[in-house]
Amino acid sequence: MLQRLAMFLLLVCALGILAQAPQETLYQVSTLNALMLGIYDGQMPVKTLLRHGDFGLGTFTGLDGEMLVLDGKCYQIKSDGSVVKVSGTVTTPFAAVTMFNSDQTLKIEAPMSLADLETRIDAALPTANWFYAIKVTGTFTLVKARSVPKQQAPYQPLVEVVKTQPVFQLQQVNGTLVGFRCPAFAAGVNVPGYHFHFLREDAQAGGHVLEAQLVSGTVTIDATPAFLLALPSDTAFKNADLSTDKPADVQKVEK
Ligand code: ZN
Repeated sequence: MLQRLAMFLLLVCALGILAQAPQETLYQVSTLNALMLGIYDGQMPVKTLLRHGDFGLGTFTGLDGEMLVLDGKCYQIKSDGSVVKVSGTVTTPFAAVTMFNSDQTLKIEAPMSLADLETRIDAALPTANWFYAIKVTGTFTLVKARSVPKQQAPYQPLVEVVKTQPVFQLQQVNGTLVGFRCPAFAAGVNVPGYHFHFLREDAQAGGHVLEAQLVSGTVTIDATPAFLLALPSDTAFKNADLSTDKPADVQKVEK
């Protein structure tokens, strides 16, 4: 009887978790501006983040590498180029995830640059004013990617950190671009336009994408017209001046 009761409670809990992870919603921890200012202390454990999405990107406490979430697994791409699967207690200061459901697919059969790919995707979207999760699986002649080295407090702004970012040139690779397209009005909260991280097929290399040359592949698009923002509760965030956004600095940091 007790066993049956425990089973019942477990089932209720499981359904509760499912109910808490809304579909078609982009769930984000903190804001891009806060990250730009150097608010790098972890706000949420990865295991909690993964309840809100199985697909996405971000970084880790202390800016310890690039985060990529694919098929419910969270990967850390470190500044030495190594990739590890992350356990649930590691925390993130900034991340965006969604439960990925395909709404639309595009077949890419001719080689193209990342800029051309973005133009191609733009033309296929129903509106530029929603958020989209975008997965590109394919063969690439080049993926130029970077990671960021772990920082110690007091933290430097992101624009300073990226001056010494290690860059990896991955040539002739199969893998997946994991990213988002955010509307222009999201500036300050997230990156307006496209932001991709890359994971090689063997999950042994990747990073924040600076350039890419796609040979062929499949683009899968998940429209996420809802947005849920979880703001930090620490002193650094409470005291930060987030009244201005710096588009020139975002360009330096992201591109
Ligand atoms: Zn990135």
